Amino acid sequence: MSFLKPDSAIEYLKGVGPQRGALLRKQLNIQDVQGLLFYFPFRYIDKTQIHQIKDIEFDGQWVQLRVQAVRMGDRGQGRGKPLVAAVKDATGTLELVWFRSQKWVEDHFLAGKTYQIYGKVQKSAYGFSISHPEFEEYDPTQIKPNAARFEPVYSSGEALAAAGLDSKGIKRIVESAFASFDLQAVEENLPEYVRTKFKLLGRQESLRLIHFPTHQDQIRKAQERFRFEELLSFQLKIISAKIQRHLVGGGFKFQLLGELFDQFYQEKLPFQLTEAQKRVIREIHHDLKSGKQMNRLLQGDVGSGKTIVALMIMLIAAGNGFQACIMAPTEVLANQHFKSFKDLLDGLSIRICLLTSTVKGKDRREALEGLESGQIAFAIGTHALIEDKVKFNNLGLVVIDEQHRFGVAQRSKLWAKSKDLPPHILVMTATPIPRTLAMTIYGDLEVSVIDELPPNRKEIYTRQIKDIHRSELIRFMREEIAKGRQIYIVYPLIEESEKVDLENLQMGYEKLLTFFPLPQYRISVVHGKLKPADKDMEMRRFAEGRSHIMVATTVIEVGVNVPNASVMVIENAERFGLSQLHQLRGRVGRGAEQSYCILMTADRLGVESKARMDIMCQTNDGFKIAEEDLRLRGPGDLSGTRQSGLVELKVSDVVRDNHILIAARKLAEAVLERDPLLSHPANQLLRKLLSTEEDGLSWNKIS
Ligand code: ADP
Ligand code: MG
Repeated sequence: MSFLKPDSAIEYLKGVGPQRGALLRKQLNIQDVQGLLFYFPFRYIDKTQIHQIKDIEFDGQWVQLRVQAVRMGDRGQGRGKPLVAAVKDATGTLELVWFRSQKWVEDHFLAGKTYQIYGKVQKSAYGFSISHPEFEEYDPTQIKPNAARFEPVYSSGEALAAAGLDSKGIKRIVESAFASFDLQAVEENLPEYVRTKFKLLGRQESLRLIHFPTHQDQIRKAQERFRFEELLSFQLKIISAKIQRHLVGGGFKFQLLGELFDQFYQEKLPFQLTEAQKRVIREIHHDLKSGKQMNRLLQGDVGSGKTIVALMIMLIAAGNGFQACIMAPTEVLANQHFKSFKDLLDGLSIRICLLTSTVKGKDRREALEGLESGQIAFAIGTHALIEDKVKFNNLGLVVIDEQHRFGVAQRSKLWAKSKDLPPHILVMTATPIPRTLAMTIYGDLEVSVIDELPPNRKEIYTRQIKDIHRSELIRFMREEIAKGRQIYIVYPLIEESEKVDLENLQMGYEKLLTFFPLPQYRISVVHGKLKPADKDMEMRRFAEGRSHIMVATTVIEVGVNVPNASVMVIENAERFGLSQLHQLRGRVGRGAEQSYCILMTADRLGVESKARMDIMCQTNDGFKIAEEDLRLRGPGDLSGTRQSGLVELKVSDVVRDNHILIAARKLAEAVLERDPLLSHPANQLLRKLLSTEEDGLSWNKIS
């Protein structure tokens, strides 16, 4: 048998060929043999145990049984009638059911014989059953070393499955790869001293175990090794990027604060900056005049006043003869920034423009021309800013607001719009991230924190009200409206249940109309299905105080600012995550009035939901909430954190694997401090790890 190399084209593998090869390339980005070996199972089926029928516990349980076929039921007449078999072991009986392939089953599943079966249990009024189990005749005389095992499950897809590459099919070609491939060709990429220190398995061994484990423990060890590898590579990359930038990375020099800044500060600034805002501006200016490119993360709780900081930094850029732009995640927010910038800059000689997908015709043309010629100093917009058509004359600064919605690719596209040197970058987070996590995820960025709210902010009073006490809410709302206040009512909108959620909102709105009838009360409604123009009109009606209540889905989540709105009612609050609740709450408490946040919930809550509501009622501190969020979601949570902001993590998760992340971080820092270029012989492998391109590998998520 001829041995394949890691980079042998996937088509050459036995059992693949041109057709399947093309599919593997296209659907799974598997180009070569190595690509397949690094396509990991996403879960495992535990076939190490034989269950007993009496021990079956719940609907949906996967079990492996050794049973005797007692009786084959009558095959029903007509389509859709199932074939049923009764089976038993020493402890009980069970039914097996087939809806398809009945003829074949009748020939191969015979009364009186013993089978090893595997499948998912269904519970009905008549007891437990399994439909379409896997089965294999059990022969006690035959020695089957493979009988007890964990079966890997690979993710596949319709097209792949149709070509025989469902999970089982993929498993077969992985086996074929292992058979015709010399595992020695897979190179170790962690130095011996690292593996010893962190008790990590070797790369070859891990690769074998991740596909063919026989113990739970082996799965764990193999996963741990690959997670460590990935996180270490990630940390080496960002830390050395930072070191490189410090060593060489030139940037535009904004030496002076500039006249525009001074003029704004003296004549326009509508309030005193907080000490924290002043400090942050100093920190940022320190970077801007250093001659190095800035990459800074600005963290600050909701309402801490990040926008004004952004504006003043942009004025520094303008004062030094450079253009600047600010990119917001939503249309609504971009509009709002544009409006408030316009007001704030009124009277200064500086031109600004708005660029979003709804800016069309003459406005758009003028904006594009002004940016290209350099006559317009600031662009305020959404991702429309990164379209190729948008050209700048001399872009010197990019501010990214509410960062978590922008991917890395988008960041680097903006980067490319600058001519000689990369522009300075200021990233502002919407939600505070715990410091430890920020450090590791945004490890390439310097971090500034606004840890102080503007003066005279009253704590927002937060309360949970259960659905049965809804009348209290109505009474309270009437009182507040009578005092001249405005109220938000927010409904959850989660993609999978979008339709149901909209119906919920609609129903809630109609009910609300009966309690708050026209003409005495006016209610605005905003949701994602509205046309932008209508959305805008409704938002404006509320912002200008012409309606009392704003019923909305989470479109208002980020950024909007209506100081007279002092009550935030969140419906089905238990369905929101902590950071989202905190963001929403941050929409009130912006004026001088006492503000309230009412969490409407189901009458009964699970333990975790209850904990979330309690935290919200106890504290207004976004950093504390972020810590609690991390703690509550804890290990095992897979939502949203895999996109690290820099690289896409394939096998690890910064929340679940936080302990590995921190270890990798420390190691990377220590190593790079002593050996910044990784030129020491002992660090050869790390240097390779640092320079690997992940793109070629198609690691599947393992959990
Ligand atoms: P966020 O940090 O959440 O983006 P914003 O920038 O929207 O917060 O600021 C929230 C509100 O606080 C705005 O109305 C803004 O004008 C106001 N604000 C910002 N800084 C100060 C300050 N130093 N004193 C008083 N009000 C301020
Ligand atoms: Mg903001």
